[in-house]
Amino acid sequence: MDADAGILVHGKIPPLLHFYLAAYSKLLGNVREGASAGKIVSELIQSPGMRECLQWFTRERHWINEQHLQLCRVPAPTFFEQKRAEWMLAQFESLHYNAKIDRAGNVVARVSDKREGPLLALTAHLDTVLAARNSEEIHYSPDGRLHGPGVSDNGAGLAALLAIARALRNFPELEDACAPLVFVANVGEEGEGNLSGMRYLCRQSPLGSKIGAFLVLDGPTTDQITWQALASRRFDVTFTGQGGHSWSDYGIGNPVHALSRAITLFTETRINGTGTARSSYNFGLVEGGQSINSIPTHARTKVDIRSESGVKLDEIAGMLTSAVERALEVENGRATGGRLSAKIKEIGSRPGGRLAEDAPILGWVRAVDSQLGIRSHLDCASTDANIPLSMGLPAISIGAGGQGGGAHTPQEWFHPDGRELGLKRILLTLCLLSKDIEAANGA
Ligand SMILES: [Zn+2]
Repeated sequence: MDADAGILVHGKIPPLLHFYLAAYSKLLGNVREGASAGKIVSELIQSPGMRECLQWFTRERHWINEQHLQLCRVPAPTFFEQKRAEWMLAQFESLHYNAKIDRAGNVVARVSDKREGPLLALTAHLDTVLAARNSEEIHYSPDGRLHGPGVSDNGAGLAALLAIARALRNFPELEDACAPLVFVANVGEEGEGNLSGMRYLCRQSPLGSKIGAFLVLDGPTTDQITWQALASRRFDVTFTGQGGHSWSDYGIGNPVHALSRAITLFTETRINGTGTARSSYNFGLVEGGQSINSIPTHARTKVDIRSESGVKLDEIAGMLTSAVERALEVENGRATGGRLSAKIKEIGSRPGGRLAEDAPILGWVRAVDSQLGIRSHLDCASTDANIPLSMGLPAISIGAGGQGGGAHTPQEWFHPDGRELGLKRILLTLCLLSKDIEAANGA
């Protein structure tokens, strides 16, 4: 149903909505009077429409848990998210949203199609690092825990999108208050996805250019607010040679030996020195060789480098190049024949960025947290928020509620205890941000 249309057709505002709008204009008045964010949040929590909706999250927890189970049973490893995207699309459609899948494969559902913008995006990534081998691998145990790959990261975020989407359909006054909202279930966050879904949304999609702020949901934990985007670069390093017999060709260039030396040379250098910016690297995959008695024709590694400083990140990438060049030189210098070659290919780059300390999106989340008794701290991480933050757009990434662990492993789990608190936090933040966006739009 469409609340706006209802108002126009009947010529009068439904009583509950009227009450809510009254509460809302009071809130706006408070903002003008310079009332504290805490007071505004506490009045919003007490407003009747909001109170009922917050109770609804508790009443509907079985429905939310069931959606969570079902969505996680549709496999969605990075680059193969289509089936889960179609499943999410069907859920938004069953809630009467006008939803679609965009050219990147993201599911997009708007609360109101009539709005030109600016819009507010609530996003959660569809993809998982690991895929379940069969649907039974995703299951609830008797203690209420959900088990299996991707149940927390990002089953929690996707379940929250659906919970909020259904809640808004049940409470038209809240739906009206969140009219600028657009739900996005995006592809390409994990592994080598290189944030492709968010990149498309922010940089290419016609809808994306209308989005003025992003609230990214990733995993369950509510104790972190990611406001700084950790920059990262990823490389594929390959040493190649002619290969041969382990005895009769002994002495020719050996790609595994060269690669091992490159990794050793690189890892012997300390990357976290006296500066304040923290950095990291990880050789996450090593492969090569054919058999124990063959000199390999190739050896390869994939390495992920991250840093809070863009300059440092490039410096570490330079160290990698030097280590590879030096290792190649040494191996070829020792070889009696069969020289090696080396190639470094950049396979991913996530831009960094940071939210302004006085950004309203941050102020509202912190005000909501203090009213709900959530003890959160500011954090720097690599998430979908990297893209909007790198473009100077306001974005934060938070957890969707509940508890979880074992992300990116087959032992991943999620427990819905405390999920309602996470959903409350999201809904309150959305209402406050929508109000900001409306006010900016009207100004
Ligand atoms: Zn994630």
